[in-house]
Amino acid sequence: TQTQLIQQEKMSSLGHLVAGVAHEINNPVNFIHGNLTHLEIYFQDLLSLVKLCQKCCPKALPEIEATAEEIELNFLQEDLPKILNSMKVGTKRIREIVLSLRNFSRMDEAELKQVDIHEGIESTLLILQHRLKATAERPEITIIRNYGNLPEVECYSGQFNQVLMNILANAIDALEEKKDSCSQIKISTSVVDSHWVKIAIADNGPGIPAEIQSKIFNPFFTTKPVGKGTGLGMSISYQIITEKHNGKLECFSTPGSGTEFVILIPKKHLSCSLK
Ligand code: ADP
Repeated sequence: TQTQLIQQEKMSSLGHLVAGVAHEINNPVNFIHGNLTHLEIYFQDLLSLVKLCQKCCPKALPEIEATAEEIELNFLQEDLPKILNSMKVGTKRIREIVLSLRNFSRMDEAELKQVDIHEGIESTLLILQHRLKATAERPEITIIRNYGNLPEVECYSGQFNQVLMNILANAIDALEEKKDSCSQIKISTSVVDSHWVKIAIADNGPGIPAEIQSKIFNPFFTTKPVGKGTGLGMSISYQIITEKHNGKLECFSTPGSGTEFVILIPKKHLSCSLK
């Protein structure tokens, strides 16, 4: 449809812009992060040295005693490590965002492979296994598999798995809010016709409010707290499915009962396209 085409074009030009920006940001941030680590070690050594001198030879080295006061031991001991640490947390966060941005624009997976989609789903679930377990706040999340008899599908497996990961991780995030009854993620796969394969991932979480549903594929749109979401997962997934695989990614959600993401992907990569 027209809306899909506009969304695709938006994603494609954004992808190129983002690749450039990510590359430019990556080097200085790595430089700052490396230097902060050096500074941290340097100040730790300096602090030990000052303490040692104060203890062993305050008379022999009066100037060091004076220096210790001047440089304010409290600052070295308490404030500086905190400042350095928060700067490191900041640069770490920037690195994470840059990494997501790079993935967002990643068009460099060269090889199309014949992929067993169920294998991709299972290995993604394995990575997320620890997040499915019960916690003090919520019950265990049950995975219901409703697998059809799928043929192998021609796709960029790394990218495709990234889409599965984004959708499943979002479903788990959504279910974290559900504290009362059983939390479920249902994964269904089926062959639609001679060209298309369908993968549906549905959770029975809180759902997505109607006014937000149209925004979830927009880059940087997130409802998660600062530091948790980058708002890039769904836009990256949209780009991977529509642009790289000529497929279709749709979201159906009913507030109060859950959310379903449906992926349609052609069995043979270039054989046809859904436009
Ligand atoms: P992020 O996860 O970093 O917030 P995404 O692009 O992956 O970014 O998701 C965008 C938003 O879409 C989320 O912040 C959330 O509001 C909404 N969302 C995605 N999946 C679900 C889901 N299964 N249930 C409820 N909301 C969802």
